Amino acid sequence: GAPGARGLETTGLTKSFGGVRAVDDASVVFHHGAVNALIGPNGSGKTTFFNCVTGLVKPDSGIASYRGEDITGRPPHRIARAGIGRSFQLCRIFPRMTVLENMLVPARSRSLLGRLRSARQRDDVDRARELLARVGIEHLEDAEARDLSYGQQKLLELAGVLMADPETIMLDEPAGGVNPALIDRISALVRALNAEGRTFLIVEHNMDLVMSLSDHVVVFDRGRPIAAGSPDEVRDDPRVLEAYLGI
Ligand code: ADP
Repeated sequence: GAPGARGLETTGLTKSFGGVRAVDDASVVFHHGAVNALIGPNGSGKTTFFNCVTGLVKPDSGIASYRGEDITGRPPHRIARAGIGRSFQLCRIFPRMTVLENMLVPARSRSLLGRLRSARQRDDVDRARELLARVGIEHLEDAEARDLSYGQQKLLELAGVLMADPETIMLDEPAGGVNPALIDRISALVRALNAEGRTFLIVEHNMDLVMSLSDHVVVFDRGRPIAAGSPDEVRDDPRVLEAYLGI
């Protein structure tokens, strides 16, 4: 998208569980074309926010829009169709299926018509192999997913997200539980995919990674954005220090 184009935005987004306001009147703008990060202490509402804007959870009130289009309360497949793909904090892969089979699950469920067209299926296999090579696990295509290391499973999940060719990719803790060498690979992949025009929205606890990778950081505390800006701007913000350190 053009610089400054409208990406994912929310206005007054609110979601409660019982008495807990997990997301509380959150108005946030993410930059289209950028690597955006969403950070905040545990329990600050990041996952609930993610789930609200990807359709897994229906917000109680407020608006979510993507590129100017209202996506509030839409089911996940319609939000995916609008151009947003996502990964999960704990990988969502099928452990007893092979790596290649895992790649073809989202592609097949994409359309019934596509499933009936063998030519299309061959395209999907070619594309799956290309993407496995891109994330560096093409040599594992016949391995069962459960035999991959956790970091390799995260790479498989990212490759699976790319099968749908989303223009915006939401990653939930891409570096969580991953060894440093694979963190570097994931980080290089995000940079390269962003350079090709894909927007990222990343929830991540690894501050070094957030600060080195992101163009724009939004900080949540108690369900609300308390700061937003470049990594340098948010790093020294007293509200951010207070939220993290309780000072
Ligand atoms: P984060 O991802 O920043 O750690 P969460 O969105 O997971 O934050 O949680 C925000 C708040 O909402 C927490 O107080 C959490 O306990 C609560 N919460 C989240 N999901 C649920 C749920 N399904 N049922 C009840 N409370 C929830």
